[in-house]
Order: sequence, then C-alpha cells, then structure tokens
Amino acid sequence: MANLTLSNCKLFLNGKWVRGSIVIDGNSIRYIGPTVKEKGTVWDLEGRPVIPGLIDSHVHLIPTALNREVLDLRRVKSIRELKTLIAKECGKSGWIIGRGWDQENFEEARMPSLKELDEACSSNPVLLIRICGHLALANSLALRKLGLRKGDGLLFEEEVTKALESVLKPGEEKLLRLLKELLYEMPKKGITMVHTLSSTPQEFYLLQLIKVKWGLPVRVRVYFDAKYLDYLLNSKLIGGFGDEYLRISGIKVIMDGSLGARTAYLRERYEDANTRGKLLLNSSKLAELLERARGLNLQVAVHAIGDGAIREVIKALSLSSARGDEVRIEHCSLTPPELLDELAKLRPIISVQPHFIISDWWAERRLGRRCRWLYPFKTMLRAKLKLSGSSDSPVEPWDPWEGMYAAVERGKEEGSSIFKYTSSEKLSISEALTMYTEGGARACREYPDYGSIKIGSKADLTVLEYLPTTPKELKEVEVYATLVGGEITYLKR
Ligand SMILES: [Zn+2]
Repeated sequence: MANLTLSNCKLFLNGKWVRGSIVIDGNSIRYIGPTVKEKGTVWDLEGRPVIPGLIDSHVHLIPTALNREVLDLRRVKSIRELKTLIAKECGKSGWIIGRGWDQENFEEARMPSLKELDEACSSNPVLLIRICGHLALANSLALRKLGLRKGDGLLFEEEVTKALESVLKPGEEKLLRLLKELLYEMPKKGITMVHTLSSTPQEFYLLQLIKVKWGLPVRVRVYFDAKYLDYLLNSKLIGGFGDEYLRISGIKVIMDGSLGARTAYLRERYEDANTRGKLLLNSSKLAELLERARGLNLQVAVHAIGDGAIREVIKALSLSSARGDEVRIEHCSLTPPELLDELAKLRPIISVQPHFIISDWWAERRLGRRCRWLYPFKTMLRAKLKLSGSSDSPVEPWDPWEGMYAAVERGKEEGSSIFKYTSSEKLSISEALTMYTEGGARACREYPDYGSIKIGSKADLTVLEYLPTTPKELKEVEVYATLVGGEITYLKR
C-alpha cells in the first residue's frame, strides 16, 4: 500500500495537542512530525484534531444489535406514558418488546403492575425489559405464551434471557444482518475497536462470518461468558487466538447484580431496603477461575459493582497468582478509599462506564452518603490505576462521546444526585479521551499497538471537526473521518 500522509493536523499526543503530520505506511504509523516531502497521497486535514481511534472496552454486541428491533423505553417518564406507547403498538402483529424502562424515572416512582400492562394491551404478548436487563415485566398473554405463572408479571435474570431468546428467535441470517449494521455504524462515532463481553460461541462465529464476507469495520476483542471456559478448552482455543481484527482476549464472570435492582453486593445494607444485595461468586471460587484462565492466557473481566463484591475480588486476587492487567474489574462502582488503596497495590484494569453517573441519578436513595465513593474516576487516576472507558451497551448508549461527556460533567446538568457528592471527581477532556483510547488498548493488553499515536502503532485514528473545549462540545463533537489500519472506515460527506 502506498503511503498516506495526514498533514496539517492537531495531534493528541500523550494528553497534549501538538501541530504536525502523520505518515501512514501500510497499516501502521511510520512518521510523526512536521510535514516533509513524502511519496504517496497527502491529505490536508486543515488543522483538524486527530486522536487515536476510540475504543469501547465493554459492549454486548448481539444484545445491542437485537436492541435495534425493540422499543426504546429509556426516556419514558411515567407509567401513563408507557401505557400510551404500548397501546399505540397494540393490534399490530406479534410480540411487543421494549427495553430500557426505569421506575426511578417514572412520576409514579414505582414499577408498572401486571394489570396496568394488560390495560395497555391484551391482544398482543408484551415483554418490557428493565434498563438493567436483569428484570422484565410481561403481560398476561405473554406469560401464557411463555408458560409462566406469575401474579405480578415479573421475570428475573435467566427468565428474562430465556424469554427473549424464545420470543426474538432471530434466525442466523437476521442476526448476522443486525450485527453487521451495528458494526458498520460505529465508525461514524469514531470507534475503531470494541471489546464484546459475555460473548458466546455463536457471536464469535458471526463475527468471523462478517470478517470474511465484508470485513470488520471495527476491531473486536472477545471476552466469552465464563460458562464457555470448557468450550474454549475443548476447542483448544486460548487467549490471543485470532488476528488484528478479531481476537479472543478473555472471559467474563459476574460477582453481583446492579444498584438499581438492589442486587449489587454491599458491605452494609442499602439505605432503602433491608438487604445487602447478593454475592453470586465467592473469592475462593473466583481465585480458582483466575488460575484456570491464566493457564489459558485468558484475561478475566470481573463484574463487580457493590463494595462487598469489590472486596471479594480483592480477596481473590490475593489468593491467586493473577496480577495487574490479567484481571479487569468491570464497573467497580462503589469504591471506598480503603478498597481503592488495595486496588492501587494490585493494579487490575478498571473498566468504567461513565454514563452510569447520569442513569443512576437516584443513587442517593440506595446509598445515602456512600455516594461519595461512587465512580471515583479522578481519585482512581491519582492512585495510578489504569482506567478504560466504555458503555455497557445496550444498558447505556454506545456513543462514546456521551460517555466522555458524563465523565467530565458528572451529571451536573442532568441533576444526578451523584454530582452533589462527587463533583471533585470530574475528569478533564484530555483525561476522558485518554480513557477511551489508551485506556481501552491497555484493557486488552494491546497498548501501544493500539490506543496511541506513536511510531509503529497501528494507524487507527479518529479525525474530529473541531477541538472540543467544553463538556457540551464534547458531547456534540462531529467526527470527520475514522481510519482503521490506515483504511478509511468513515468519512463525513
Ligand atoms: Zn455489561
């Protein structure tokens, strides 16, 4: 491939903006500096900012792809509004599936009842998944069709997954199409790599198909659901298998639930219920898993939200030989200082989802003053922990700019109760960008091949229309072009 020179750029180098040019040779960066006479194509970027390609270190690809087919309920403000929305869909053919409602956002401040759902629609089966994905509400017809007997219409955990699977029953062809559409949309926001968590052999297979049929417009790193560890063993697959575009990186395991559903495991009980949540895996079991995964060169991404769950992860780390970036803590939401000190010694990757700060605006009700330890990104950075930015899509929108915005604004505009306690945890724009570039590459142990503008790094680059200087500009920033390995995956028209 001929050289491509990006000239007249504002380069994001080690957290600073520097004027200069980049020469791309093949799929890598060969030169950074003032413009020199180069053979090949010269692309004058007219002073536009160029950053390393954005990385989302925690998405669920197939659930996000399927989400394109369901009603988005994230902005519904009352049960009344929800009923109207469902009634409008009622009478069309087949199931009505929605996702993203949150009773904390409802004027009525409670969950909808089975009766209310039946009032909205009784002629079609209706299944409405809560924002967290761990809970769903079904109407009477849906319950009958699913063969479930539930007075309150509520489905939990596995029941939700099973119901969705049996209802959506997307054929492979459709799944392939939806997944491809999703991946091909991501470069528009400047994304060059995603890590897909709780992945399945089917998802891995579909990604391979997309790769050979059309090519992957974003690089994908796969973290299988831990229940597939035996599948990996039997298939003789280990971490690192794959190529630059698609690679197995690790497995994902879940320690607790969510704050919204009061299932995140806390050291002390919730403020608004007589429970501490639930620990799903103890430290010795986790330590065992860490050892097994380590033997297969697989990273372990551990979902831990409550301080009780995070404490268990710390215990497991001290029991096992797994160190540093061999382990990632996903969410790491409620992190009081004493646990943060422990983490600073053990140095796992911390994979965070800043947009939770906006969505968990009600956190004060659950945690009271403990909110001051929620999502302490700045303190974590000061403790020299490696943070990677992500969305947890479909739980939160996958647009990385919304995530970065939340990290620098911390829910101030949105009236999140978290802001009051943690305004000092705001990140700078440059720290937020670093989290979604360098941070993401470190999270899958592939820095500085990715996530940086360095000589020898892959030419994964995102060109912006302007340099964002305020939170609002950051949220609304326009991507001008995206390159993966020197190939243009998006160009604004
Ligand atoms: Zn997730």
